[in-house]
Amino acid sequence: LSERLDSAIKQLKGEGRINEINIATTVKEIRRALVDADVNYKIAKEFTDKVKEKATGEKVITSVSPGQLMVKIVKDELAELMGGKEVELDFSTKPTIILIAGLQGSGKTTFSGKLANFLKNKKSLRPLLVAADIYRPAAMDQLQVLGEQVKVPVFAEPENKNAVSIVQNAIAHAKANGNNVIIIDTAGRLAVDEVMMREVADIKAAINPQEILFVVDSMTGQDAVNTAKAFNDRLDFTGVVLTKLDGDTRGGAALSIRYVVDKPIKFVSMGEKLDTLDVFYPERMAQRILGMGDITTLVERAQAQYDEVQAKKLEKKIRANKFDFEDFKEQLNQIKKMGNIKDLLAMIPGVGKAIKDIDISDDAFKGIEAMINSMTPEERSNPDIIDTSRRKRIAKGSGKDVNEVNAFMKQFEQMKQMMSQMNKFKGMGGPGMPGM
Ligand code: GDP
Ligand code: MG
Repeated sequence: LSERLDSAIKQLKGEGRINEINIATTVKEIRRALVDADVNYKIAKEFTDKVKEKATGEKVITSVSPGQLMVKIVKDELAELMGGKEVELDFSTKPTIILIAGLQGSGKTTFSGKLANFLKNKKSLRPLLVAADIYRPAAMDQLQVLGEQVKVPVFAEPENKNAVSIVQNAIAHAKANGNNVIIIDTAGRLAVDEVMMREVADIKAAINPQEILFVVDSMTGQDAVNTAKAFNDRLDFTGVVLTKLDGDTRGGAALSIRYVVDKPIKFVSMGEKLDTLDVFYPERMAQRILGMGDITTLVERAQAQYDEVQAKKLEKKIRANKFDFEDFKEQLNQIKKMGNIKDLLAMIPGVGKAIKDIDISDDAFKGIEAMINSMTPEERSNPDIIDTSRRKRIAKGSGKDVNEVNAFMKQFEQMKQMMSQMNKFKGMGGPGMPGM
């Protein structure tokens, strides 16, 4: 996601001025990036409409650094979509009861251990962990081990097969032992099912917890949103915990869940170490999603270096009249990377209006690419060897007519001549996009 956003915003950064056309391009790119990151289309659209509205305002257009202002608008709106401000747990009732719910494998037990550690060390509370997963003996052991690691007592009744009664006994135990916060780790299933839902709902009804935290694996994408909705419909939870944010995960889950269930994300968990639990700060998450800071700088620097090296190499080849199909293909890729061709052309002053009604699709290059792809590497770097029989083969391979291949070869030859000529007059055909 951040790569896509990066490139969308980079397009703007390169612009001295912002106008409605490049706002539209950027916004479209951001929307595509969000959808790619599993954000529901409707949410993405609503979001980008808002961004567009703000960006089109006078301020951005006249700003000295419109790119940066645009980044700020996007970041602020993202943070706003995720709740704006961090939301704390409610400790107004003591002992505070926190019920943990979610699918199997989402990270409930791990989170319970982390939360106990967090509350003990950061909030100076005296937590009690409760093992209410009655189906898997291993789950109880897992919590015991975690409890020992963070030095928090664990309440378990291995013989008791009634989760509600375990929890009730645990509360009595906590009161008797001076524990002022109770963390209840429950059983999950692989998918949303009635038995699991009823059990958690029964526990909720019996003990009336102050907090019900829904734990969700942020790597499950759009599924995470559906699961969140199912749990919220049944449990009306008070907050969300996003786990496994340490992985190569996309940011979409955080955005969509917040939007769909309208409950705050309270914690993010990123790793298996017990002190890797963080309060959820919408602004930091927005920053993460945007990939700003170090990543942006790195990407930009790498890109600039790459471009420069490529440009130098290309310039040399052009001057020696050695520009070949391999180079041509590379150039096409570069252009495609920059986005929609019509939008790009439209940014050239005076061109926008002229091409308004002309259909220039990204497919325009498809035929050319097909022909180049049908050439052997040898042919690509040595266009001179492409004789009649080779042309026939290329035509066949790319689904084109031999005449089309001939025409293309001729155009290519002319272009090559022109580029080499132009390069002899210094100052023309700058290194940015030689020949194009
Ligand atoms: P539960 O079935 O919901 O109780 O899930 P567990 O707490 O047992 O976690 C399932 C698996 O995910 C275990 O292998 C955990 O070590 C792992 N896990 C939990 N939280 C995280 C996290 O934040 N990051 C990573 N990378 N792994 C996690
Ligand atoms: Mg568990």
